[in-house]
Amino acid sequence: MRFRRLRLSGFKSFVEPADLLIEPGLTGVVGPNGCGKSNLLEAIRWVMGESSAKSMRGAGMEDVIFAGTATRPARSFAEVVLSTETDAGQEMEVTRRIERGAGSAYRLNGRDVRAKDVSLVFADAATGAHSPALVSQGRIAAVIAAKPTERRQMLEEAAGIAGLHVRRKDAEQKLRATETNLARLDDLLSQLD
Ligand code: ATP
Repeated sequence: MRFRRLRLSGFKSFVEPADLLIEPGLTGVVGPNGCGKSNLLEAIRWVMGESSAKSMRGAGMEDVIFAGTATRPARSFAEVVLSTETDAGQEMEVTRRIERGAGSAYRLNGRDVRAKDVSLVFADAATGAHSPALVSQGRIAAVIAAKPTERRQMLEEAAGIAGLHVRRKDAEQKLRATETNLARLDDLLSQLD
């Protein structure tokens, strides 16, 4: 999967709509301290389903919404749109929007979807909010210092099998529910006998 374009509006310091084309190859973001480099990387992670406000450097998820300055009022919502292309050339557009008091909503090619659907799409494409392909400040040191289980997680994400864990958990839950139903059915049948 390739990231083609990133659009932000009201996200952190990007109060005005910003539209960035992501060219093929490695992309680096440079600029003076505090200009919003990390915010850009966070926007990519956020639209892919990041659920931890802490890892977005906020106390709550609404902290990603432009909070206002001395001269500009705060925004009521933040929106990030990521356009991607699969290896087969198929285009996909993912949108995440958060409104104060209303939480996050996701769209996949214009259709309303759940956060989980978005996470699975990216996990299957060997990327996602925790992808080792997004190298933020301190990340290299974190990889070196990581515990073996954490390194395994990174490798699984890079290999595109992270989504399988989510599916396995879902399948196990369904299996447990079915086993409970079967046990109840056995009880009922034995009462009828
Ligand atoms: P450095 O090189 O120092 O790490 P950076 O270029 O990575 O900086 P960021 O950390 O991305 O910069 O951006 C920080 C800026 O974003 C700060 O000025 C901060 O006030 C602003 N910012 C973060 N969240 C919000 C928000 N919700 N509303 C308005 N501004 C915000």
